[in-house]
Amino acid sequence: MLEIIHHGGATGVTGSCHQLLLNRHESLLVDCGLFQGEDAAEDSFEQLQIEFDISTVKALIITHVHIDHVGRLPYLLAAGFTGPIICSIPTAKLLPLVIEDALKIGFTRNAQLIERFQAQLEKQIVSVPYGKWHSISDVSDHNGASAGTTRVKLKRAGHILGSSYVEVSYQDAKTGEKERIVFSGDLGAPYAPLLPAPKSPYGCDQLVLESTYGNRQHPDRRQRRATLKAAVEQALANGGTVMVPAFSIGRTQELLYELETIIHQARSSRWQSLEIIVDSPLADRFTKVYRELKPYWDKEAQGRLRSGRHPLNFANLYTVDSHAEHEQTVEYLAKTGRPAIVIAASGMCAGGRIMNYLKAMLGDERHQVLFVGYQGTGTPGRDIQQYGPQGGWVAIDGERFDIKAGVTTISGYSAHADQKDLLNFVKRMRRWPHTIHLVHGEQTARAALKSKLEVLYLTKGKQVNVLSSS
Ligand SMILES: [Zn+2]
Repeated sequence: MLEIIHHGGATGVTGSCHQLLLNRHESLLVDCGLFQGEDAAEDSFEQLQIEFDISTVKALIITHVHIDHVGRLPYLLAAGFTGPIICSIPTAKLLPLVIEDALKIGFTRNAQLIERFQAQLEKQIVSVPYGKWHSISDVSDHNGASAGTTRVKLKRAGHILGSSYVEVSYQDAKTGEKERIVFSGDLGAPYAPLLPAPKSPYGCDQLVLESTYGNRQHPDRRQRRATLKAAVEQALANGGTVMVPAFSIGRTQELLYELETIIHQARSSRWQSLEIIVDSPLADRFTKVYRELKPYWDKEAQGRLRSGRHPLNFANLYTVDSHAEHEQTVEYLAKTGRPAIVIAASGMCAGGRIMNYLKAMLGDERHQVLFVGYQGTGTPGRDIQQYGPQGGWVAIDGERFDIKAGVTTISGYSAHADQKDLLNFVKRMRRWPHTIHLVHGEQTARAALKSKLEVLYLTKGKQVNVLSSS
């Protein structure tokens, strides 16, 4: 059995980075993510450094472009990694945008340096179509003789555009023994807007499985759209703004898609005239790339396009670009209470433009904060979610803000599979893995999923070893 080392993402939901050891001098890396929230250590610069030996890494495989899966990539390149960066075709389009942003925030503002980095990155990216095996150059032993062959295949994960889970097939040259390992990356929920649901692989020996919602069930899509509509209507009635902290990639576009649906179906003129503001140049850029990548949308979205609708580019949609415009928008909405929906990053309220909206509007009961994504422990987002409904407060930049605004959470837009979906991912394989590594989940989520998986295997009379770090 090949060994897998987790350089992050084993005990928390961020910093995903897994190394598959093919032998003593060859390995593959799956993702190279950034730690966020509570997972980030005090001295975060230390964590950014690639602290493990990368001389054995033959290739890096990127499952998707969320920062907790790709954020340490610049540090990997800086550490001297020159191998191929394997990803899906849409991911190859999105990745340079994400990395450019990550560089500006955490690395350097030096335009020349950023350009050099980007050129280097573009050189190393190898985009591969979904569902096709891609050979990694032969693994060799210390004498240079072939020791084994490695192939990887990406399959659609339904999490964000371009997201994949990874199948690795390894065959030892001497013994002829084969092993199949699947890395789930982040799996999407079925019925996610825009994306087809993930289909399980035929089977594998080892599975590295995410467990973000290992202890939760999502409401169904109709119910969550109704909750979204109700939250917005409440704010409309109050004459307030709905603040939606959202990741630039994935959730923002899903949300726009859902809002277009509600507006399309709504009869009231209030909905028809409601302004939807994306206050994030980055989210706007991603939305544009999402529009370009229409061939990767699901059937429902394709159908809407054919009927002349524009799910990601409709009449009520406005984008805020410059910082001055951003400040004006915050001030205007806080003062006038003109009904609007504002979508701004960061998704967990740990920085970004959403912070100025929160500071200006949390203390006013006309407004609403609408969470559509997972809030990591230790983030201001989690505090608002937890203490807001009881009339509590949150500390932002060392200052105390009372929460009078309404707080609503809709978990279905999280773009992560829930407990049932995760179990189905295993259940629907023809050949179940004998070893499952649970990663990318808090301890309680991993513990709940572990026991469910063990019961599942027991009822089928099968054996499994579920590994979960403590
Ligand atoms: Zn993700």
